[in-house]
Amino acid sequence: MIKYILTVTSILISLSSFGQDYFQQEVDYDIKVKLIDSIHTLEGDIKITYKNNSPDALSEIYMHLWGNAFKNRTTAFAKQKVRSFNTDFYYAEEEELGFYSNLDFKVNGNSVTWKLDEENIDIGKITLSQPLGPGETITISTPFSLRIPNSYSRLGHVETSYQMTQWFPKPAVYDRNGWHQMPYLDMGEFYSEFGDFNVEITLPENYYVGATGLLQNESEKAFLKERIKYTDQYLLDTLRDHSAYPASSMKMKTLKYTAERVHDFAWFADKRFLVQKDVATLSSGKDVDCWVFFTDLEKDLWKDGAFYVKRAVEFYSERVGDYPYPHATAVQSALSAGAGMEYPMITVIGRSVTAPALDQVITHEVGHNWFYGILASNERDFPWMDEGMNSYHDHKYTSIYYDDYDEAGGIMPKKIERQMEYSTLSLAYQVWARIGKDQAPNTTSNDLTTLNYFLGAYEKPAMAFKLLENYIGEEQLVTAMRKYYDEWKFRHPQPEDTKASFEHSTGLDLDWLFDGMLFSNQVYDYKVKSINLNEGTIEIENNGMVAAPINLTYYTDTAVGETVWYDGFLGSKKLPLVNKEVKIVELDKERISLDIKPSNNDYKIKGGAVGSKLKLRWLSGLTTSKTEKIFMLPIIGFNSADQLQVGIAFHNYGIPLSNFQYYIQPGVGSRDGSLIGSFEFRRDFPQRTGKLRNVSIALGGKSFHESYNERFDYSLRFTRIQPSIEFEWKDKLVSPIAHYVRYRPIGIVTENARIGRETGFEGKDRNLAIIHNAEYNYLRRSPIAPLDVKVNTEFQQYKRGDATKRYLKLYASADAKYAYKKGKFFEIRGFAGFFPLHTEGDISTSAAIGNFSMFSRGFNDYRYDQHFIDRNGQEGFFTRQVAIADGGFKNGITNSMPIGLSNKYLASINLAIDLPFGWSKMLPIKPYFDAGVYSYKATTSEPFQQEVLYSGGLMIDFQKTIMIHFPLFNSERITNIYEQTAANYWQRISFTIDINKLNPHGLKHWFLR
Ligand SMILES: [Zn+2]
Repeated sequence: MIKYILTVTSILISLSSFGQDYFQQEVDYDIKVKLIDSIHTLEGDIKITYKNNSPDALSEIYMHLWGNAFKNRTTAFAKQKVRSFNTDFYYAEEEELGFYSNLDFKVNGNSVTWKLDEENIDIGKITLSQPLGPGETITISTPFSLRIPNSYSRLGHVETSYQMTQWFPKPAVYDRNGWHQMPYLDMGEFYSEFGDFNVEITLPENYYVGATGLLQNESEKAFLKERIKYTDQYLLDTLRDHSAYPASSMKMKTLKYTAERVHDFAWFADKRFLVQKDVATLSSGKDVDCWVFFTDLEKDLWKDGAFYVKRAVEFYSERVGDYPYPHATAVQSALSAGAGMEYPMITVIGRSVTAPALDQVITHEVGHNWFYGILASNERDFPWMDEGMNSYHDHKYTSIYYDDYDEAGGIMPKKIERQMEYSTLSLAYQVWARIGKDQAPNTTSNDLTTLNYFLGAYEKPAMAFKLLENYIGEEQLVTAMRKYYDEWKFRHPQPEDTKASFEHSTGLDLDWLFDGMLFSNQVYDYKVKSINLNEGTIEIENNGMVAAPINLTYYTDTAVGETVWYDGFLGSKKLPLVNKEVKIVELDKERISLDIKPSNNDYKIKGGAVGSKLKLRWLSGLTTSKTEKIFMLPIIGFNSADQLQVGIAFHNYGIPLSNFQYYIQPGVGSRDGSLIGSFEFRRDFPQRTGKLRNVSIALGGKSFHESYNERFDYSLRFTRIQPSIEFEWKDKLVSPIAHYVRYRPIGIVTENARIGRETGFEGKDRNLAIIHNAEYNYLRRSPIAPLDVKVNTEFQQYKRGDATKRYLKLYASADAKYAYKKGKFFEIRGFAGFFPLHTEGDISTSAAIGNFSMFSRGFNDYRYDQHFIDRNGQEGFFTRQVAIADGGFKNGITNSMPIGLSNKYLASINLAIDLPFGWSKMLPIKPYFDAGVYSYKATTSEPFQQEVLYSGGLMIDFQKTIMIHFPLFNSERITNIYEQTAANYWQRISFTIDINKLNPHGLKHWFLR
């Protein structure tokens, strides 16, 4: 009786929390297939019984035909792979592709109209001849022949090892939000209807098969039993190698499987499989068979695989709910998407390298039986619901069974990790959240960047649930989790259902967890502001939007005091001081919060906020410590005027990066010992929402000598100060296309020597130039066809004698590359510019200011954008440094020759191509060809002349940072100059060193783009 009342109560609660419109469709399958391994093809028939439990009449059924995802380069899967810079599938051979043929859908045995989706050929739509009413059932049937692709994701094969996942036509989910048809993706998982499966697989007799569902053939059970015995012996004999593929038997066998209340069916077949088995015993008394199928590849790790499966099944059954299926199986097989992949009752694992890593991956994948298999959320749209809640559990498992095992899979060296106050994962979140590049975990998979899929779907929710666990206590959390499982098992929970279930069972308002940490990418940063011992209060401030709970630990002179939890809040709040003997308080002592700036978490009664203390460290490192750090870097450089330069760079580029960055690099040159160097201060304002991603303001400067006069022994110095502002736009964070607008006024002070005819060197005059430069930059990242377009406008006003002169200059460049084969590019760069306004447009080019240049050399780098070793020299190897700017020619023609400059217009094209050979990756020799046209005036009285130049040769190109150019043929004018200056071949070789790419800001862009 009591039981009866309880049941009624829980049904009432269930009804209120599910909402009354909850329904789910029922889809049962009868599948018969035959594997023809000689042509990697699966042939068979499928019959689907579809019951419409919705209140709606359905006039169409959407089908997932995910085998077609591997048909060509234009599928959503193929595009996503390219977007994540993996071009393996893009360059796949014709015979490696996969797709269906001979699909012929019938409904209740009658032909129907059906077609492939225009955008996604792996989605089909069946139009029903009459609508399927509520409560009605139809059968959908079709023959199908699947060409199995090579292993490029999940479904595939390597030789005769088969990974049969997403292999059969399958209806999409229809739920209270309508149809959820979706193309197959590599990063982005599944959403399927529950039902029962009867599957018959015919294949050569000597295959071992692991599958969803319960094997029905007694003969096959005996066959596997024999294999277990064989494997026991085999594992003792370390010398034997079992990696070759045996020939397929001519005799076939038909295996029968049944599975109930699952939403997918996967199987893996390999003639080499070794087999082991264990049994998990649940606290309910139920036994679950735990199988592993594996090859020779990592057999030393897999010998304990069945035990890992067993331990994982028992762990999840305790913490979430009883495992409802007859077996749990892990298979080691080919997988080209992540470390492991889950299917009901069975999971596939790739290479693991170490035993703890294998245990962790098996546990995670087995755990998906709960978070995906039984609690069948929409993984595609809400990946945190399975990955995040599952990761929380597998991290828990790891922390119980391994003392010293890193949740991030050991990517952080142990030596560094011991110095870290935070786990690698927590640190990774801080790095990304601080620069505003994190995304809400509740973002559909294809809109998440690869890193945010890892952080947002897996790790941030795992950390959030761990915080909840610490806040409410472990027992409470397990109770809430089990309640959630009971309410939603074999159903499709939506995010709001999960929130409602947890709020209901804990009795807490969990907005901070769900709305704050999962449904948005809002951040928070608690800080101790002050302690008032007289008042007995402690004031804490939250600089953020998430009112997460916090804990404070009180330290006295003699002991670590108690840790007290407080409910979260926004803004400032005074809390009662628990211990008045306190000397230090520490926020979040156990380092489990998602506070993005923990360095302000401590407070000393005498001395105030801890964290104001500065520490000097070499190179770079972690900045999460309780102290602010200044990093130092020894700097050695060289230019012809200063000679050897030595200095120390002080900077704060550490991990995580602060939004305020600086480097100050003072030094001295060995020529005269005077101060030289450079600096930059930069403040980023990351925009967490909207299309504008970042606004950044900066102030940079540098001062070096640019020439040295030996006769009179003086050096001339240049000093540049450059404030700047930059805006970054991006449609979506995941988009490969970004737009930037930058504006910078450049102030340059240069020196000229006054030389008297009699007196010699008399002193220096200083000259100030201010150049305004605005740039629009369109950037498309792609492993196939990247593009970088820059449009510039530049204005300068200057004095010529007493007259004020000015020019306005417009120019644009486009850098495009196209991969003609994998990793081998054809490069084309175009440049064009002219002066819409030039008050000195009619004087001789050599006297004009702000000229375009075909050969970008030290003496015409009037914005002082580049670093030149010998900026103004006339001869010697270092004078042959060229920058890839303006015309982009690579000839290091001496400064004294007036060629290639224009105060009117200049246009050019630069071509280069990677050689198609493998060795050219190590020694990147490329043929190149430059051609350009420009207009110049030899003297003020002569008219403008147009001149065409070209030059071609070979270059060695190390990532455009260090390049050496060997010109082989040139237009006549260039050849003439080489001959006039008596340049032998060695003296025609030029080089490029672009150290702008190596400064901290350049490196930051490279790492964090
Ligand atoms: Zn997972």
